[in-house]
Amino acid sequence: MLQLEKKLLSKLSKDLIIEESNQCVSCGLCLPHCPTYRVLKSEADSPRGRIALMNGVASGWIPLNARFVQHMDRCLTCRACESVCPNRVSYGQLIDETRALIADQAESVATIRKSTIRSALEKLLLMQPARLDRLRRLFRFLQKRKSLQWLRKSKLVEKSRLLKFIVQLPLVKLPYVVATEGKNVAGNFWQPVYPATSEVRGEVALFLGCVARVTDVATLNASIYVLNRLGYTVYVPSDQVCCGAIHQHSGDPEQAKKLARRNQSAFAQFSTIISTASGCGVQLLESGVASDQTQVVDISRFLMKVEGWEGIDIASLPQKILVHEPCSLRNVLRDQVYPYRLIARIPGVEAVPLAGNDQCCGAAGTYFIDQPEIADMLLKDKLNAVKEGAAQYLVTSNIGCAMHMANGLCEQGMNVEVLHPVTLLARQMGMK
Ligand code: SF4
Ligand code: SF4
Repeated sequence: MLQLEKKLLSKLSKDLIIEESNQCVSCGLCLPHCPTYRVLKSEADSPRGRIALMNGVASGWIPLNARFVQHMDRCLTCRACESVCPNRVSYGQLIDETRALIADQAESVATIRKSTIRSALEKLLLMQPARLDRLRRLFRFLQKRKSLQWLRKSKLVEKSRLLKFIVQLPLVKLPYVVATEGKNVAGNFWQPVYPATSEVRGEVALFLGCVARVTDVATLNASIYVLNRLGYTVYVPSDQVCCGAIHQHSGDPEQAKKLARRNQSAFAQFSTIISTASGCGVQLLESGVASDQTQVVDISRFLMKVEGWEGIDIASLPQKILVHEPCSLRNVLRDQVYPYRLIARIPGVEAVPLAGNDQCCGAAGTYFIDQPEIADMLLKDKLNAVKEGAAQYLVTSNIGCAMHMANGLCEQGMNVEVLHPVTLLARQMGMK
């Protein structure tokens, strides 16, 4: 980027930060809702404190130094503060702008930035998620052969959160393809279209995500199954890419915009895009992939708004189910009621909110890798809540939260299954 262009963008970014942060009246109503303020007990790690710091840096009366970056990096972007702010301060936009400003001046700031391996992985895989489809079988093969076992005990895993995350992944599942004789079988790639299996009511497009297309195949398969059974034909555009949330929240809005443009073109012909991970759903909505012609809808909300349930047999499950509400679903989409309603379709289910649902679990995109200490403190609270909830199932609508909590439960030896509400529903509807 030309130097002059860079300077202009930086000035624009600073002006935006000053204008928006001036909306904060320092009332402090957001403080009790902020997870980092709760665990760190420091004003600089509260929304009010961070906004004041952002204003100071953008106005030039505070230096943009490593200490400032640390307080910004510790923010989970959970947006709990934004959802309760009486003055409607757009905190999400503020922190993204600030991170872009930091990235712009990264060379001059001594702080922890991404490793070269991680940056390369992001470039190679997140920008081209179809490559992840090709790696799925190889990864599954290694998992089945227990070839990753030696890594579990290696010192490398202790040092790298990313590696730990990879070796802890449950057995990767395969996308199912619908055979012509109507029998569903596992395949390696997504079919471009999954036809409705009952009276046709409409058609939708499915957003696969990047990491989720490998780690959360169960939810994607379940969504296709339930939608097909309700009379919806599901299209899976092959040229869709990552939603860009990781780039947006790590100071690279230009890359996020590029991804949004590619998704706009991949989904241009569809009026409804179904998202199965609330974090991706928010990014698709806010990056302009949703428009007047195209709506982005979370799967639970969509399924609760459509007809066609009469005549569908759902096996009973007389169990208590704990419901986790991801920050993206609760604070931004405000769709947290729909997972409860969805699993209430299963006879016998007792859906109970997981205690502390107003606080982030610590997964927060790549936060659990970047800020492991704080992420672990927040996870500990969730694990205690699950223990007290004494249930066999925990449902959540965001894959990042699901994996973070499932790994924590597994390490504690707690036998609780973590799954998406639609996966539980599909199972009770007879999906094998
Ligand atoms: S609630 Fe809003 S106005 Fe009040 S301190 Fe927090 S961000 Fe500022
Ligand atoms: S986004 Fe979350 S962690 Fe960040 S300041 Fe707001 S409430 Fe705190």
